[in-house]
Amino acid sequence: MLLSIKSKKKSSLNSHIFNKADQLHKALQQERAAGKTIGFVPTMGALHDGHRSLVLRALAENDIVVCSIFVNPTQFNNLSDFQKYPHTEEKDIQLLNSINCRYVFIPSVDEMYLEDPKLLELNFGALENTMEAEFRPGHFKGVATIVDRLFKIVLPHNAYFGEKDFQQLAIIRSMSVQMKHEVNIIACSTLREEDGLAMSSRNLLLNNDQRKAAALIYQGLRKAQEFIPHQSVDAVRTLVIRYIEQSPLLRVQYFNFVDPITLENINSWNKNDDVQGCIAVLTEGPRLIDNINYIIE
Ligand code: AMP
Repeated sequence: MLLSIKSKKKSSLNSHIFNKADQLHKALQQERAAGKTIGFVPTMGALHDGHRSLVLRALAENDIVVCSIFVNPTQFNNLSDFQKYPHTEEKDIQLLNSINCRYVFIPSVDEMYLEDPKLLELNFGALENTMEAEFRPGHFKGVATIVDRLFKIVLPHNAYFGEKDFQQLAIIRSMSVQMKHEVNIIACSTLREEDGLAMSSRNLLLNNDQRKAAALIYQGLRKAQEFIPHQSVDAVRTLVIRYIEQSPLLRVQYFNFVDPITLENINSWNKNDDVQGCIAVLTEGPRLIDNINYIIE
């Protein structure tokens, strides 16, 4: 079904909503045949300014942009996380319409999985033995599968992903190489709330107290930069965890200093090293992740 959302101003462009993969694929084929470049932003909806920034960048760098909204069941290792995941479809469509994102893809689970429920079996080496992979078994298999399927439908020239999901970005780069997708994977910086909390759809699930406490996560990540010149890797990790856990509402699940490419753990500070600090924090509500880059001087 192809549905055109009418915006209030007659002159502004409308978003076209596709639910069927083959219809979207055909429409995009025509665009490609006409020489248009295609930018793609996959999302799980409940769109916020972080997602918006990805779409705006894609709009600036491509002739047309496709944004998908699909809460992918195979990447949830926890049923209640899947069931609670926020859905704000009407608002999402309005947002995409307001910035003239022409193509919006909102498939059903059957559309993406009924014909072929089998997940992609790839080897991600060290990337799949650490951090998110360790605490969310099967998560990246689901991510890689859905992004591969979406890439095959959209065949984008450029695809945009947030650094907020740092390990996901590395997995998608690897999947894309292994599956020989001819697409540029473009990393976009993390948008934050005023108090520093990384924007996330899951933030909608924080109660007021958890939301206030969650600001400690980014503060803690930044504090590490102050500690690094004076303390060992282990000591900095302990200090940051202690700082964040000053709130009884937050519990750090992991905080790792890793190489930004291989994601292998860093065990000592070396001058001019590029180090990524990646963290997952549990609340009684949603689980939150964030990361920050450190330059060692
Ligand atoms: P999601 O809907 O959470 O699956 O996210 C869709 C895309 O938006 C992913 O590439 C995310 O990394 C990216 N994203 C999520 N939050 C942010 C943020 N705060 N800033 C920039 N990009 C983000």
